[in-house]
Amino acid sequence: MTYIDPHIHMVSRTTDDYQRMAQAGCVAITEPAFWAGFDRSSAQGFYDYFRQLTQYEPSRAAQYGIKHFTWLCINPKEAEDPGFAREVMSIIPEFLDKPTVLGIGEIGLNKNSKNELIIFEEHLALAAEHNQLVLIHTPHLEDKLKGTKLIIDAVKNNQEIDPGRVLIDHVEEHTVGAVLDEGFWAGMTLYPDSKCTPQRAADIVEMWGTERIWMNSAGDWGPSDPLAVPKAQVEMRRRGHNQQTISKISFDNPKTFLGQCPKFVIDG
Ligand SMILES: [Zn+2]
Repeated sequence: MTYIDPHIHMVSRTTDDYQRMAQAGCVAITEPAFWAGFDRSSAQGFYDYFRQLTQYEPSRAAQYGIKHFTWLCINPKEAEDPGFAREVMSIIPEFLDKPTVLGIGEIGLNKNSKNELIIFEEHLALAAEHNQLVLIHTPHLEDKLKGTKLIIDAVKNNQEIDPGRVLIDHVEEHTVGAVLDEGFWAGMTLYPDSKCTPQRAADIVEMWGTERIWMNSAGDWGPSDPLAVPKAQVEMRRRGHNQQTISKISFDNPKTFLGQCPKFVIDG
C-alpha cells in the first residue's frame, strides 16, 4: 500500500533501503536535520550536511521513484553551546528557498537543558520570520513528559506560530493527548522493539482516533527499521482496520500536513 515516511534519516541508510522502501509502497519521505552519530566540529560541517540533504539525497531517492524532502536546523543534541548553534543557524536562511526544503526541524529538546530551550525558541523565531512549517523532536524515556510540556509552552509563547503548522514527534501514550488538545499535529515514531512499537501505535490510533496524527520510522544510524511504516500498516490490517483508516494515517495525513508547504507536491 502506498505510504509516506515523513521522518527518516536517509543519509545514514544504504541505497538498498531506498529500494526496499519503494518496493513496500513508499512514494515520498521527509528527512529532518539531526545528529549524525557524532558532534560536528564546525559550522562548515553543517553547511556540507545541508548540501547533502538538499542536493544529494533527492537524486539518490529519485532513482527509486521516491520524492525526498528535508527540514533544516541544528539539532538539540549539538545545541548546548549557544554561540556555536547561532553560527549554524545563520547559514540556514540561504537554504530555505531550495525546492525540497519544507521547514525548520527537527528542533526541540534532548535533555531539557536551559541552553537547548533558548536555541529551540530561536529556531521558532526563525521559522516564524520565514513562514516555515516546524517539526519538533521530543526527548525520550523519563524526560519525555516534562520536555513535551516545555515544548508546548514555548511554542504557545510565540504568538506568530500556528499550532496547525507544527508537528510534535515521538509522542507516546502519555503525551499524545496534550499535543492534540493544543491543536498541534502528532507523530508516532515506530521503533523495532523499544519505545513506540507498531502495536503500541495501533493502540494509540484506536484510543485517540485518526485526526492530525501520522507515523514514521525515524530510521537512522542506530537500531531502527526503515520499513516500520509498512509493518505498522500490516499490524493495523491484522486488527481489522479498513484501507481508508490505514491510508489516512500513513498517507493522507502526512500529505495534508506537509502540503501546507506549497513545495510538497506528490502524485496521488
Ligand atoms: Zn529524527
